[in-house]
Amino acid sequence: MSASPGLSVDFQLEILEECGFHCQACYVDKTARLEFGDNQIRKMHALFSEFQAKSYDLDHLIVGPTDFTTSPSFDRISEEKHFGELTSFFNATNWTTTLLARNWQEKVEKLSRFNRSREATFSIVLNPQKSLDRRYLDLFVERCRQLREIYAKPIRRFYIVFNAYPHRAQERVDFKRDYLTVHRLVHELFKVPSFEHGFSFTRAPSIQGHKERIMGSMDWLNQVYDEVADATEIPIQFLIEGDYSANRYVFKNDRFYFAPLWHEPFVNFDPALEVPVREWSVSEFERFEQKIVLRQYERLDQLVCGQCTYNPLCLKRGIVHLLDVLGENRCLVPRQAVEQRGLAYD
Ligand code: SF4
Repeated sequence: MSASPGLSVDFQLEILEECGFHCQACYVDKTARLEFGDNQIRKMHALFSEFQAKSYDLDHLIVGPTDFTTSPSFDRISEEKHFGELTSFFNATNWTTTLLARNWQEKVEKLSRFNRSREATFSIVLNPQKSLDRRYLDLFVERCRQLREIYAKPIRRFYIVFNAYPHRAQERVDFKRDYLTVHRLVHELFKVPSFEHGFSFTRAPSIQGHKERIMGSMDWLNQVYDEVADATEIPIQFLIEGDYSANRYVFKNDRFYFAPLWHEPFVNFDPALEVPVREWSVSEFERFEQKIVLRQYERLDQLVCGQCTYNPLCLKRGIVHLLDVLGENRCLVPRQAVEQRGLAYD
């Protein structure tokens, strides 16, 4: 995670308030008031211009955290004259939706009009308890087809998301068979590598106050990947470079937060993850990065990671810093899966 030019950077904007749904295992604070208007758009425009001028690759702008088709703030930002300009700095923008709102088509049309990035991606949140229900999945295949028609611009891909949470499914004797079946269904029906585990659980209001839940879900997910490691057709999220190789910064209420790349970015608003940004300049992000790099090397030998052959990857992804933030000293990676599949460092 060095701050050299040419590095891919993603920004995640927490600017959509409220949501019409109550998805299982969603920990988004849907009552939060999120500050975002002319002032922020103007400063962000200057910041993204500076990143671009310094040859950073602005890859993905993630706009969330709620379903854009039901958030009243989506209508507001779609009317902000300069919001479309912000999207034009990025190769792609990402939007989350359940595709279940009554008027979702109208919202997609609106998005099509103002979104100016080259491509879009959509995260489609599905109910994990219906993951084996073919009729339920068929409904979404049809809606994704309609979405492609309505959003008349290039769509890079869909992410089919089941929120991760430590449910008892894994204890069932047929867990692995079911997991493989869901993977095959999603792969065949949606033409995507597999489904994603949504990391809503990382959004606990404070890490220390909710550590049990966070660690429980992390352990559960690592066990799932270890369990299916020999089914090589299933991608292990942690091992996918490309989709999740950019540094991710999350913006919320005039503050920026660093999101370490665990399987995918670990989004949390704990002060320990905050980037001290006052001027909204690239050098402030670079200084923060350098500090984290140094801090990780200083801590390495005091942690289990010191003697680990995989530590170059975990240093690059900020996972050694995440261990510190979590106050843990144990491996955060599905080691069996990583060892079985083999690991590329760059
Ligand atoms: S988190 Fe695990 S895999 Fe990563 S460096 Fe530490 S011990 Fe190694």
